[in-house]
Amino acid sequence: MEDCIFCKIIKGEIPSKKVYEDEKVYAFYDISPEAPIHFLVIPKEHIESANALKEENASVVAHIFLVINKLVSELGIAEKGYRIVNNTGNDGGQTVHHMHFHVLGGRSLNWPPG
Ligand code: 5GP
Ligand code: ZN
Repeated sequence: MEDCIFCKIIKGEIPSKKVYEDEKVYAFYDISPEAPIHFLVIPKEHIESANALKEENASVVAHIFLVINKLVSELGIAEKGYRIVNNTGNDGGQTVHHMHFHVLGGRSLNWPPG
């Protein structure tokens, strides 16, 4: 999608610190980390938000969770724990309208979020 910053990151038009990539997803460190480990996992297909999931495109979400499973293990936070966050829409705090999953770890995280 033309004006989407995450689509530009996938294409390499905006630089990013890559964690992982395959044919379906791209993972990269958040530019403004909220925890010692904070990366984002996004589908390469532009899906605006969780609201735009349908039978035809939803399988990528399971794939994203399997990728996260592998990456948290490699980054050494699988056992201590971490948080997977998807913000949807304005009230959900979504600022980039390309569906993404935050993975936060490396410290004890507060609950509930504000
Ligand atoms: P949201 O608030 O939509 O759930 O999360 C968007 C996230 O994308 C924010 O945590 C923000 O720091 C991150 N972000 C926004 N622009 C960029 C960018 O250009 N590069 C990287 N690496 N992260 C970004
Ligand atoms: Zn996009």
